[in-house]
Amino acid sequence: MYILLMGPPGAGKGTQAERLIEKYGIPQISTGDMFRAAVKNGTPLGLEAKKHMDNGTLVPDEVTIGIVRERLAQPDARDGFILDGFPRTTAQAVALDAILRELNITLDGIINIAVPNEELVRRTSGRLICRTCGATYHKAFNPPQKAGVCDKDGGELYQRDDDQEAVVKERLAVYGQQTKPLIDYYKNNGHYVEIDGLQDMEDVFKDIVTALEKKDGQ
Ligand SMILES: [Zn+2]
Repeated sequence: MYILLMGPPGAGKGTQAERLIEKYGIPQISTGDMFRAAVKNGTPLGLEAKKHMDNGTLVPDEVTIGIVRERLAQPDARDGFILDGFPRTTAQAVALDAILRELNITLDGIINIAVPNEELVRRTSGRLICRTCGATYHKAFNPPQKAGVCDKDGGELYQRDDDQEAVVKERLAVYGQQTKPLIDYYKNNGHYVEIDGLQDMEDVFKDIVTALEKKDGQ
């Protein structure tokens, strides 16, 4: 099963990816992991990427695409994979299509887990962390017994800067801007399916599997 998985932060992509890995026995290929592996293995593209990462400059598309090509050609990806975090731009999507053609692979589904922004803010902005043990809570979904205090050790709970509502909103706005052209591209090129991410996790998973296994609708 060849899957491209998309979804904003807070949509539950990680959970769904884990379940797909288990169901289909395929590797998850994320951009971060690919870069780390290429750098660690010291491949020419990895060294090139490292140079940019060390300098804090953006890794050029052709380097990223080269690393993706190397990774998708590995034996463990031959019978399927979940691609996560790539492509990020339409140019990368076009390049990915070329790589897949070279490898004679057709994606079984371009899955986008869609969740309205208000809900994403609700999900991600309420996270609390214990200063002592690192346990996580959520203001709405998993509150501690006593506000501001860890149930396990009485440690103080705090909110990461990243999880503040304004920061979350900004992050979602950037994600939306970056992703819209990509979604438009895939609506016209490939088996694009939007999954209702407001459902519970079980139903989201069922919908994803149904979409992947239905080939006639392409
Ligand atoms: Zn604690």
